[in-house]
Amino acid sequence: MPTITVRLGTETYQITVADGALAGLPDVLAGTCPAARYVVVADATVAGLYGEQVRGLAATVAPCDLLSFPAGERSKTRDQWQTISDAMARLGVGRDGAVVALGGGVTGDLAGFVAATYRRGIPFVQVPTTVLAMLDSSIGGKTGVDTPHGKNLVGTFHHPRAVVADVSLLRTLPAEHLRAGFAEGLKHGAVADRAHFEQLVDARDRLLARDADALSEILATSVAIKAGVVEEDAVESGRRAILNFGHTVGHALEAVSGYGVPHGEAVATGMAVEAALGTAVGITTPGTQQTLVEALRAFDLPTSVGTAARDQLLTAMQHDKKVRDGTVKFAFLREIGQAARSDTGEWTFPAPREAVLSALNG
Ligand code: NAD
Repeated sequence: MPTITVRLGTETYQITVADGALAGLPDVLAGTCPAARYVVVADATVAGLYGEQVRGLAATVAPCDLLSFPAGERSKTRDQWQTISDAMARLGVGRDGAVVALGGGVTGDLAGFVAATYRRGIPFVQVPTTVLAMLDSSIGGKTGVDTPHGKNLVGTFHHPRAVVADVSLLRTLPAEHLRAGFAEGLKHGAVADRAHFEQLVDARDRLLARDADALSEILATSVAIKAGVVEEDAVESGRRAILNFGHTVGHALEAVSGYGVPHGEAVATGMAVEAALGTAVGITTPGTQQTLVEALRAFDLPTSVGTAARDQLLTAMQHDKKVRDGTVKFAFLREIGQAARSDTGEWTFPAPREAVLSALNG
């Protein structure tokens, strides 16, 4: 099966992206994440669809339980972290236990954070079930939860032992979430690889039709791009910040909507706005924003903030993780396929409030 390696020294791991990859889960668990018992963590929707199947596969290696929580971003909280951690303690999961995070980015971030902190850290394996989780959130080791003060504000780096992405699980993914996931794929192309950006746009019909070959091939390419950026800068002290393109505005939109907007849609809008802002401040090459907007529209993704209150968005941006000395920072494109870097080597940039407001207004 096609695999991509994320080279991180002793924390090196492999990502399998293939139609039918799930069949290999027992071998992956036994080989990379041996444990006295497993806990599969999934949201209620995914647990209902695939929970028993995955629990059964893991149970061929060691005893395994299934824990579920209500689906959606509103569950990515400290409360759910506590509920799941306590349930694991009641089950008697020890330091020799391991977690299988089965689901989208919400599950990966939440269950990964449980694994990172439970008994000071136990190993986990990611089994992503959304496009977004397969090509982005399951890779790179970022785990955490949202707080009323902002998104992903409490968390840690905890790399999975392996990622098993079976594209056949995408057959049941609602269309809005299928489309939303490609926003992060377009982002990978936009910040690092123009050919991938064009490949995604060209393959749009086959991807939206859930053609397994197209999904396996293109998701694997996107994964390899993310893996390359993560290998270079595992804890985001430098270039990894380019993956935050679209996220300063995107996270603000999610927060202001009460997490009612899917993450990928918020990032799509965020990329369109931040490309306009980058152009306005003279960093992004003119014409880049138009190309990006056309690609996002091809996937029926939103490109404007609509009626969201501007002052609330600006306030929410102040809580972004990239704020330094009270200044909001943005990752900008130089052009499609290349992130911008300042003369002093920085990957993020400040922008005047008026320019941000003007970009939000389109
Ligand atoms: P999600 O996990 O909420 O999944 C979206 C919806 O699809 C949910 O309702 C879920 O129940 C449902 N679902 C998932 N798989 C399904 C399937 N195969 N069939 C049917 N339904 C299915 O959301 P998401 O878009 O996958 O992830 C968004 C989250 O990822 C955000 O919290 C974001 O912050 C996070 N994220 C993290 C990173 C990272 O590096 N850790 C990167 C990008 C995004």
